Formats: sequence, C-alpha cells, structure tokens
Amino acid sequence: MLPIVGFVGRMWHSIPMIRVESPNKHLDWSNHMTLPVDPEYPAATDRYETMSYRRTGRSGLKLPTISLGLWHNFGGVDTIENGRAMLRRAFDLGITHFDLANNYGPPPGSAEESFGRILNLDFRRYRDELVISTKAGYWMWQGPYGEWGSRKYLISSLDQSLKRMGLDYVDIFYSHRPDPDTPLEETMSALDQVVRQGKALYVGISNYNAEQTREAVRILRELGTPCLINQVAYSMLRRWVEPELLQAAAETEIGLIFFSPLAQGMLTDRYLNEIPADSRAGKEGTFLKRERITDEYLTMARRLNEIARQRGQTLAQMALAWVLRHPVSTSALIGASSVQQVEDCAAAIDNLTFSDGELQAIEAALAG
Ligand code: NDP
Repeated sequence: MLPIVGFVGRMWHSIPMIRVESPNKHLDWSNHMTLPVDPEYPAATDRYETMSYRRTGRSGLKLPTISLGLWHNFGGVDTIENGRAMLRRAFDLGITHFDLANNYGPPPGSAEESFGRILNLDFRRYRDELVISTKAGYWMWQGPYGEWGSRKYLISSLDQSLKRMGLDYVDIFYSHRPDPDTPLEETMSALDQVVRQGKALYVGISNYNAEQTREAVRILRELGTPCLINQVAYSMLRRWVEPELLQAAAETEIGLIFFSPLAQGMLTDRYLNEIPADSRAGKEGTFLKRERITDEYLTMARRLNEIARQRGQTLAQMALAWVLRHPVSTSALIGASSVQQVEDCAAAIDNLTFSDGELQAIEAALAG
C-alpha cells in the first residue's frame, strides 16, 4: 500500500481528509483508503479546449504541444505552494505532461518527493489523464552503481523514483544520457525490462546523438519495446540537433521533445532590462551564469523581442513556436518559476507558423 503523505505545510492545514474510491486500476490502494483531497481543486472543466496534442512518433501516445519540466523550482529548497500552483494551472491549461528525473532538486530526489506530495493532494483522481516521466543517468548516489547506464543503476533508480513519487508506474522512463562504458544493449534491455515489469508504459532516450539514436531504436525494436522519444536540448541558441538528429528521428519514427527551448530564460524578456535577483541567472549555483548576459546577448535578445512583438507574441512564445515548427517535434518542454510564465508559454500555440521573412529576420538577429 502506498504511504499517505503526512505533509503539513502552511496552506495544507485546512485540507480535509475524505474517503475516496480508488480511481485507478494501476494503483495498489484499498477501496477505502483515507486520502487528503483538496476540494478547492477540481481541475478546470475546459482544460482540453485550447491545448493541442501531437502524436509521439508512430506511437499511440499524444503529448501536449507544451509540456512542463520540474528540473528547477520544485526542489526541497523551493516553495512547494508555488510548485503546486504551477502544476494546477498547467493542468487546467491542458498541459498533461510533467517531466522529472531522479536527480532534480536540489537536493537530488526532492523534486520527485514534492511532486509526489502534490500528486497525492490534487492529481490522484486525474492520474490517467497525466503523462509522468522520469529518468536515470546522472549522478544520484555514491559508489559505482549510482549513475550512467548499467542495468543495476537504472532499475534501482526507477524503483527509488516510484517510491518518492508514490506511483507504481511512470508513463515514460528515460535513459538520461548515453554511457560510453556500458554496452547499449544492456541499457536498452534494462528499459525493456521495466516495461515488462509494468513499472513504465513507454521508454525513451535523452541526450543521444543521431547515431546513438538509430542504434538505440534498432535494439529496442528487436527487444519488442519500441523507443518512444528522444529528449534533447534545442533552442535558437543551441542547435546541435540540426540537421542529423532531426533526420534520424524522422527516419526512425520516434518523437522528439525539446528541453530548454527558452535557453533557460535567455529567450524570454527576463533579462532585457536587468538580471532579476529571483531569476535563474540571478541565483547562485545554477547552470545559467550571469556572465552570459552580455551586451552582445542583449542586442540580439532585443532584436528577437521586436520580431516577436511584430508577430503579436512574447519572446518566449516565439522561441517555443520556433522549435515546434519542425514536423518531427512532439513537444516543447519548458521550465517555469511562476504561474504567469506557465500561462504565457501555453499561449504560444496560438501562433506556431512563420513566414520566410520572419525566419530570415530571426537568423539575422541570431547572427548579430
Ligand atoms: P526553459 O528553457 O523553458 O527555461 C525555463 C526558465 O525560463 C524558467 O525557469 C524561467 O526563468 C524562464 N521562463 C519560462 N517561461 C517564461 C516566460 N513566459 N517569460 C519569461 N521567462 C520565462 O527550460 P529549462 O531549462 O527549465 O528546462 C525545462 C525542462 O527540460 C526541465 O524542467 C527538465 O524537465 C527538462 N530538462 C531535461 C534535461 C535532460 O538532460 N534531459 C536537461 C535540462 C532540462 P526564471 O526561473 O529565471 O524565472
């Protein structure tokens, strides 16, 4: 039986404990388990009216065109109320896909724990409407079995992730990065195994280049568990997927979900006037160093911002539309630090097309 989350944060005191029927055949609950449910969160009834959904490669699974990742702002150091508000708003806007990894935090694992708490409070009854993913590949625990791509690490890590989130399966489990020392057959057969065990419905790869993607897809196909998707970095400022990986995905008929499509905030209006103290570049210990906010960058970002304004979009919305213009793209995987950012990004789907002139103007702005 799953543990009942005994969370007593500031705003949870008033949440009553009510008895509910288990809504999900996958969950090993007794029918009369006591579960904290917030009656103030019935999901919006119109949540499927605006978001669009794209088929992932040739699979049967559709993902929302905009997905939400929990790498930042959902860790133990962050305010869980803010994370909860963002997840609720995202779901209300039709964002059905939430992306995690074993090591998201900080500290590592805490994003999955926070997500598990919020899931228990707000989303249990919507579990079958959600696509929840997690990954293993980066450093998670000490010793030789706490990172990379061995069967030993991947299977233990997924077991830990399921416990932290209070789930008995995830929708997508990823090999987070290719491992130069482990045979790809071993990594892929661990992915195949978790599907056969019922711990994941689909499997994916992340940060695999074109050649590694082709090989992973081939091995998984032979094993009988198709590769669903590759999760890779792609934005106007990070274009390594062009053109080989885009072609490999199209050829192998898998999906592509693009992470950091806003270049961690650099393709938004966040830094146009200053480096806010609460921004990613303004904080210590993040992957976005304040040194990257140079005069040259600002000149480029302001030109891009003007092109976006002429399109009737924010810069963030245009940056998302730009990665989504490829037919092979399944979803743009954003991060957010506020409800307003989630709303702004979700509205990107209102204009996903570009004229040749706009694309040329963007290239010119990027070239400086
Ligand atoms: P983004 O490029 O979307 O950057 C997110 C940041 O941009 C936010 O934290 C916020 O910055 C800013 N932002 C977002 N929306 C807006 C807006 N509308 N207006 C102004 N600023 C905005 O993505 P991330 O780098 O956060 O990555 C997204 C997800 O991708 C991760 O959560 C994770 O799930 C996945 N990922 C996967 C990796 C992998 O190896 N597979 C690696 C990295 C990420 P601020 O916080 O400053 O407000």
